[in-house]
Amino acid sequence: MKLKYWFRNFWQGLVGRAELSYSKVNAYQLCPWKYKLIYVDGWRTPPTPQISLGLTIHRTIEAYHQRQSKLLEELLEIYDEKWVNEGFDHPQETVGFYERGRKMLVAFFNKMATRDARTVYFEQDFEFPLQRHKVRGIIDCIDQHPDGSYELIDYKTHAEVWSQEKVDSDLQLTIYSLGCWMALKIRPKRYSYYFLSHDRIISTTRTAEQEASALQLLKDVGQKIVRREFTADTRHCYYCDFRYKCHYAKLS
Ligand code: SF4
Repeated sequence: MKLKYWFRNFWQGLVGRAELSYSKVNAYQLCPWKYKLIYVDGWRTPPTPQISLGLTIHRTIEAYHQRQSKLLEELLEIYDEKWVNEGFDHPQETVGFYERGRKMLVAFFNKMATRDARTVYFEQDFEFPLQRHKVRGIIDCIDQHPDGSYELIDYKTHAEVWSQEKVDSDLQLTIYSLGCWMALKIRPKRYSYYFLSHDRIISTTRTAEQEASALQLLKDVGQKIVRREFTADTRHCYYCDFRYKCHYAKLS
């Protein structure tokens, strides 16, 4: 275990406090042991083309907003500057992902040109207390429409487009909705996933009931982490990045 992780976890255990985020809760729900490997022991998932492309696109859009640019050429120049060249097996794979990313950004640029909303926050951190725990996250983008309403947008770069039902019940957006209100005092009217690979935006809303149940889940997971309840759940081993290193892995 890395020393910095040891100190952080020792301190958190001592004061009975966990630092929570959507990624952490999601890892814990999939397999508590996986949560431990990543967030207590400091295991890292190896770079993959999909992760590198996702990082590149997020960093490109962030820098594009920061520079307040309105030019496609500049967006594509930033893309080249921010390119994360890790996890690719051979040059053709690199070229394939690079071209996919360029297409996403051209479609993004064209879509943004047709919207009359103004971006008011991008890559915005939030943090709020929950009992003894802390909940954190980073929101990709919050736009304000001419009628004054807000729309929270999260960019997705994977190939799959989620169904409306999945977006309606998605935990990440509910935690972001809580973060928006608790930390930024903003109540978005719409919460959207922008599936850049398909240039599709799927929007939803959030209810007080969804927020209450997400808060309860965060509290429950926080308590289990503080109590160091890290039992392996082997139902998802087949898709786990640690399946060849984890001694609990069940692959059949
Ligand atoms: S391989 Fe299976 S048991 Fe091990 S961390 Fe991954 S999901 Fe959990």
